[in-house]
Amino acid sequence: MTITPGAEDRSAHPLLDHEPLTTARFAALERRVAGLMGTAHDVALMQAEALLPLEAAIRGAVHPGSVALNIVTGPYGQTFGRWMRSCGAQVVDLEVPYERAVSSSEVEVALEAHPDVDFVSLVHAEAATGNTNPVGAVAEAVRAHGALFYLDAVASVGAEPVLVDEWGVDLCVIGPQKALGGPSGVSAVSVSEAAWQRMADNPAAPRGSFLSLLDWKERWFDGGRSAFLAAPSALETLGLEAALDRIAAGGGVDALMARHRAAAAATRAGARALGVTPYVVRDQDAAPVATTLRTPDGTDAREVVAAATSAFPGLPLTAMGAPSLRLNHYGPHATLPLVATALKSLAAALATDPSASLTAAESAWHKSE
Ligand SMILES: *Cc1c(COP(=O)(O)O)cnc(C)c1O
Repeated sequence: MTITPGAEDRSAHPLLDHEPLTTARFAALERRVAGLMGTAHDVALMQAEALLPLEAAIRGAVHPGSVALNIVTGPYGQTFGRWMRSCGAQVVDLEVPYERAVSSSEVEVALEAHPDVDFVSLVHAEAATGNTNPVGAVAEAVRAHGALFYLDAVASVGAEPVLVDEWGVDLCVIGPQKALGGPSGVSAVSVSEAAWQRMADNPAAPRGSFLSLLDWKERWFDGGRSAFLAAPSALETLGLEAALDRIAAGGGVDALMARHRAAAAATRAGARALGVTPYVVRDQDAAPVATTLRTPDGTDAREVVAAATSAFPGLPLTAMGAPSLRLNHYGPHATLPLVATALKSLAAALATDPSASLTAAESAWHKSE
């Protein structure tokens, strides 16, 4: 029998008097998340937003003497570079314009120029700018070179395939708060054997710290998953479980990814029909998770967004500095009605007729789905 405190009590609250989070339930969820990431590696569910495992993985694996190739295709890469430098690494930044993806040949050239690179960091999809990188091809170059491969898949998981084992990713971080439509206070990192070894060999790897993956390994994985290191964020973890249940009930991850792909295609087509140019130039570089648009000359993105969101409160539209705005068509927002509402509101803010845009969006949605 499960004893749920407060269940008989009329003051019971679904957020406060929830079911208990046992170690077995936690471990089962861990394996479900591993399945989502396409990996048999250890997957640690971390008790905070994804920035925790993103930083923990770098601080565990990077040390004085490391040479890191930091592929920068958006703002998160800048942050990773700062962390790696603060670990004492020599960091080679490979920065490409954010309106496109990096190419595997650019990565090959950088690795040839820096044969001592032993760590490569990459962001899969950039939610801030709406570009996505060809991880499979980059991973091949990294494997051929023989470096540890770190991937931020927070904005891609659930929106496009994340194939940790097939690609050979050593450290991959995900979070539930974007395409999975889940909570932001829990996240996960997969760790390959090579990555565990690198951390074990690193005297500077965090220990006795919230940032320590080695503590997690020794006390949770090696301890047979029978005791938590500290009380887990039960509410957020149960929220992640609920998000995965909801995805399964909605046709599974493939259906979820198809909705994201269609949302990006529809947004791009509908925007073009309004005379609004997508910030990411080539369709193949466009992330399914979010679309950034350049607002027409003479318009202020902040005013366009203010007008659009006052007409449709809750519309996931953000102004990104003067010339561009972003539609976050992810999670429960990856739907044709949401995209259509966003296009209608943009058309109204630009004082344009929306009908051609809506037709273009609908047709792109159905073609893509
Ligand atoms: C959202 C996101 C994160 C998590 O960071 P927050 O800004 O705190 O949500 C990390 N990396 C990428 C690529 C993201 O899109």
